[in-house]
Amino acid sequence: MESLWRQQTKEIQGNLKRLNKKPDRITWDVIVIGAGMAGMLTAFYLKESGKKVLVLEAKTIGSGQTERTTAKITSQHGIKYSTLIKNVGMENARGYAMANEKAIREYARLIKGRDIACDFEWKNSYLYSLRENNNLEEERKAALSVGIDVVSGGGGELPFPIKDSIGFPGQAQFSPLKFLKSIAAELSVIEHCRVLEIKEHVVFTERKVFTAETIVVATHYPIMDMPGYYFLRQHQERSYVLALSGCKKVDGMYYGVDRDGLSFRQAGEYLLLSGGVHRTGESVKNCGYGYLEKMAQQYYPDSRIEARWAAQDCMPHDGIPFIGKYSVFTPDIYVITGFQKWGMTMSMVAALILRDEICGEENPYGKVFSPQRLHVRAGFTNLMKDVFTSMKGIIKGNISEKPQCAHMGCELIWNEEENSWDCPCHGSRFTKDGEILDNPAVKEIEE
Ligand SMILES: Cc1cc2nc3c(=O)[nH]c(=O)nc-3n(C[C@H](O)[C@H](O)[C@H](O)COP(=O)(O)OP(=O)(O)OC[C@H]3O[C@@H](n4cnc5c(N)ncnc54)[C@H](O)[C@@H]3O)c2cc1C
Repeated sequence: MESLWRQQTKEIQGNLKRLNKKPDRITWDVIVIGAGMAGMLTAFYLKESGKKVLVLEAKTIGSGQTERTTAKITSQHGIKYSTLIKNVGMENARGYAMANEKAIREYARLIKGRDIACDFEWKNSYLYSLRENNNLEEERKAALSVGIDVVSGGGGELPFPIKDSIGFPGQAQFSPLKFLKSIAAELSVIEHCRVLEIKEHVVFTERKVFTAETIVVATHYPIMDMPGYYFLRQHQERSYVLALSGCKKVDGMYYGVDRDGLSFRQAGEYLLLSGGVHRTGESVKNCGYGYLEKMAQQYYPDSRIEARWAAQDCMPHDGIPFIGKYSVFTPDIYVITGFQKWGMTMSMVAALILRDEICGEENPYGKVFSPQRLHVRAGFTNLMKDVFTSMKGIIKGNISEKPQCAHMGCELIWNEEENSWDCPCHGSRFTKDGEILDNPAVKEIEE
């Protein structure tokens, strides 16, 4: 089923009319791979800074995770700041907070300055818990200590009594594809052009070969395993969204911090209810659409499901996205990944950092998100879990009858709810006929 955003915005076009069949003789200043929110915003700011930019997209503009988001623009990312302070220190936590706060203001400036009709609205964003034992008090103090305003109240409009909540004022929500449609009109984008390989300044695609001074890999999950080794540094989680009609409207944006917590926001006449999180490729018992539908029935018995969709995101071990040089061995290749389901705000953070770095300026937050950082202690347990899952998947892949992932040969798991083959190791997904739905795979499953 199409997401609400796709129902609202069917087609998005760049300004490149058609792809010339001849070999590409231009050396672009920058080639951005991936036309999701991250790639498009990065291309937009680089172009604004005078660079000659081309975007290469495997499918169509915005057709990745970006069209299946809930599109809150916020620096409130769950129990984030108390965790970051503990794991990576106050300076990094403050940098993370300020970069996100700046990104919210930059969206507002851009949308107002260009009069982009994308249903942008200022909102308070709330974390809430239904349980007595929660981490909200600690998070409240942490948020204040990294420089974010906190408000109390909120939650009275939710369909259940809550124990506590904390609100961040000055956050926002919008319609992501309406926004993308507007900025895409100024960008050169080649759609249906999957990148297969990158060698220094050369980009090999299914259709032809391109060259650029600088390359940005904004494919959600990076497509090159080595160097960079992102497959060892993060895994993917899926979550689900229902657009409900016939519910009491909510004004705030809400995120439940309990393990089975639900997220809420209003989008016009529809209430967006999301949650049901699980690692991609793992059994979807008590999560997925089934869980969300049960919750919708319980809390809004008179509601109707008007649309439903699912998406996934990359979860880095230390809780910080990777934005910057792909590796120390590839000085002209950059990467954007690891958004942990906060890629609307983080795409703007990434675009501003990469604009500065590619244009030779220092960005005050570059170091916080640098892929070359080393937070061994913070990420160690998660690293071990992911290595174990991958080893298990690869061994099973070699002995099982089930199809193997085209990425590293892990055993694929059949996802009943979404009719897809999903990889529990790194999160690639395929249709029942073997076509790629989600990265990191760049090849289809072979018979
Ligand atoms: C259920 C859910 C709700 C969410 N809600 C929020 C929210 O409220 N607020 C928030 O901030 N974030 C949210 N997120 C996260 C956010 O949606 C994502 O982080 C964000 O959309 C990622 O954008 P992206 O550009 O990195 O990836 P994508 O949108 O996936 O873009 C990557 C693009 O690269 C293309 N591509 C892939 N491989 C290749 C290749 N080999 N060659 C060429 N192109 C390629 C893909 O086709 C795709 O178009 C949510 C996530 C989920 C799962």
